[in-house]
Amino acid sequence: MQGLRPEPVSGVSLEGISLLRLDQSADLAPGNKRYKLEGYLTQARHQGVKRLLSFGGAWSNHLHALAALGADQGFETVGLVRGEAHELNSPTLRDAREWGMRIVALDRTQFRLRNDLLFQQQLVTQYSPCLLIPEGGAGAAGVRGCVAIADTIRRHGRGARHIVVPVGTGTTMAGVVAGLDDTFEVLGIACMKGALDLEDRVAALLDVMGARDHARWRIDHRYHCGGFARVNPSLRAFMLDFEAVQGVPLDPVYTGKMMLALHAACKDGEHRGRFTTLAIHTGGLQGRRGYEWLGCRD
Ligand SMILES: *Cc1c(COP(=O)(O)O)cnc(C)c1O
Repeated sequence: MQGLRPEPVSGVSLEGISLLRLDQSADLAPGNKRYKLEGYLTQARHQGVKRLLSFGGAWSNHLHALAALGADQGFETVGLVRGEAHELNSPTLRDAREWGMRIVALDRTQFRLRNDLLFQQQLVTQYSPCLLIPEGGAGAAGVRGCVAIADTIRRHGRGARHIVVPVGTGTTMAGVVAGLDDTFEVLGIACMKGALDLEDRVAALLDVMGARDHARWRIDHRYHCGGFARVNPSLRAFMLDFEAVQGVPLDPVYTGKMMLALHAACKDGEHRGRFTTLAIHTGGLQGRRGYEWLGCRD
């Protein structure tokens, strides 16, 4: 937990907002992906499966975490990556290969089938015995792992009742919502454009969890900044200013958009007089290497 400094960022003070710094955990895979994968690693151990398969792009935080945790916990890992073989040499995939992940290129047509059951069955047969983990660690096992984030909030959240989290698949949000009671309110910031089925997906995940007494929640769709992994000038300017003033690195795909949304809320005076707002820094900092303007070229 870390309180933000009162010095203004782009003209607005963010005082009263605290960060849960999952990006700073000392383990191999900082951020939220470790929590999501925990559920799947447990499942693989129960099934006695030694090989883990999953999907992602060349900058995937998920595959990066899977490669690191898999190596540490004695699993063989296979990353099924969108793109042609010659495109697959990002720093992310370089790390993954160093940890022993086998990188397999899927062309765009194949990659589009990643949630198709028949295609998944073919892959499972081809790499048998293995556990196929959905892209991003989405799904019920991922949600179960993320309930641990809620436990941390209850224990170390300094009484914060208003929780903010960036949303991709909604798995992390569902875990946090499921793990808190209705004295908490969880606001998700959608990082993809037009992901209007997110509410249904989060509701379905909460159903699967059988979470009855859970936090109130809603999703704000206004801060995608042009789409998934896209950056617009206001996000770029905000992130550079935020990092200079607060000394906290953000990633442009998720946490930058979450903080931009909070900044807008502070500008509108929405947080005045509230309980402390707690924003979850979900990590993703390895992906900064893909953005030269952040000054961290690999
Ligand atoms: C994957 C990711 C998210 C989104 O998590 P979901 O559970 O898919 O909603 C948020 N922040 C970071 C840094 C991520 O890597």
